[in-house]
Amino acid sequence: MDFRLDPSAEPAELWEPQGASYYNGELILQPQQRLTQQQKLELLDWHPMFTGKCPQCGASFDRDYTSRVHWDCKCGWMDD
Ligand SMILES: [Zn+2]
Repeated sequence: MDFRLDPSAEPAELWEPQGASYYNGELILQPQQRLTQQQKLELLDWHPMFTGKCPQCGASFDRDYTSRVHWDCKCGWMDD
């Protein structure tokens, strides 16, 4: 007997990652739930989580900014 797992075996149910669905046997990503690479790069560019600065007035956030969940600046800008 050969007990090795068959690499070509199909799982009993189609696995659907979060944010995607199968339509007609094809895995379709739901774009509104995923940032495109471009959107990610833009976020890296301006969001204070990455820059440490308010995108509106440029004021620096506190040094512990990487652990923040809610962002609000004294200029009125906020993201929470
Ligand atoms: Zn600001």
